[in-house]
Amino acid sequence: MQQKAQKRILITGAAGFLGSHLCDRFIQENYHVIAMDNLITGALENIEHLFHMANFEFHHHDVSKFVHVPGKLDYILHFASPASPIDYLRIPIQTLKVGSLGTHNLLGLAKDKQARILVASTSEVYGDPTVSPQSEEYWGNVNPVGPRGVYDEAKRFQEAMTVAYHNFHGLDTRIVRIFNTFGPRMRLEDGRALPTFIAQALRGDDLTVFGNGEQTRSFCYVSDQIEGIYRLLHTEYHEPLNIGNPEELSVKAVAEEIIALTESKSKIIYEALPVDDPQQRRPDITKAKRILGWEPQVSRREGLIQTIAYYKQKLKDGVKQQIN
Ligand code: NAD
Repeated sequence: MQQKAQKRILITGAAGFLGSHLCDRFIQENYHVIAMDNLITGALENIEHLFHMANFEFHHHDVSKFVHVPGKLDYILHFASPASPIDYLRIPIQTLKVGSLGTHNLLGLAKDKQARILVASTSEVYGDPTVSPQSEEYWGNVNPVGPRGVYDEAKRFQEAMTVAYHNFHGLDTRIVRIFNTFGPRMRLEDGRALPTFIAQALRGDDLTVFGNGEQTRSFCYVSDQIEGIYRLLHTEYHEPLNIGNPEELSVKAVAEEIIALTESKSKIIYEALPVDDPQQRRPDITKAKRILGWEPQVSRREGLIQTIAYYKQKLKDGVKQQIN
């Protein structure tokens, strides 16, 4: 019997948090994974455990420049982009470029290779939403010239460009709108609420909550997010789709939960709310349930326990490195 040819997938942003988990998943599913990253916010240590594998290769490349990949490609996952406010405020032009020029390059590559492409969009396309929960039909409330505009507008452009390639060129496209996701391999210092709170709690520092802490967020554990993305890639659905955990809670409540889970003596202190910080964030996942048969399986508490264990180890390794 003839063996089925191995599927080849290009994953951009592969050395980052979500990209590295996607590499793991597709290697596990026996794909040939071509990982691409310029390491601007990612780290090779997230994927170095895959380097010895015959079906894994790494390309150090900035996808905002022309992208060339030899051989056939069946799928492209475009995940390259700074994703935390600290990062995209530090590198605003690169953020706009990877969402626009980078996306254009990858759509062109997908067209050339006749590959299916899935692009990583974000709940930030909804801006500071005036409706809750946010369904895919909501057009959003984004300040294009505010500090977060570089990220939000790059992602909105990315969606528009992807839809244009689908409609005009008949490209096989997918758009996932990712809501806050957390888990091992997020950078401790990336400025997002969960890693910051966990690092502060483990070090015994006070937890800095912005505003009065009543603004809400909902947090999806990484294994659930990866499962949703995997299913979307393999489903015939090209409209944008929300993937996230609809369980909403205040930022203050999550800070308290982390203090309790780490058994920390830290206290909460309050600082000024950043400009355009969204007041509420909660996905409507009715469509993901219906179309993908998907919903989150891991509770926030369970996810936090896993994540805290990972960060404890990281902090221990960091101390060891400093001593050596
Ligand atoms: P991350 O910063 O950990 O990973 C992003 C990766 O992209 C990094 O490894 C970085 O080096 C790489 N990169 C950035 N610009 C590049 C370029 N020009 N060329 C090549 N590589 C480049 O962030 P993440 O949390 O893993 O986010 C991954 C994707 O998911 C992003 O597109 C982000 O917008 C999206 N997303 C993530 C979340 C979340 O909660 N983590 C939420 C919404 C959307």
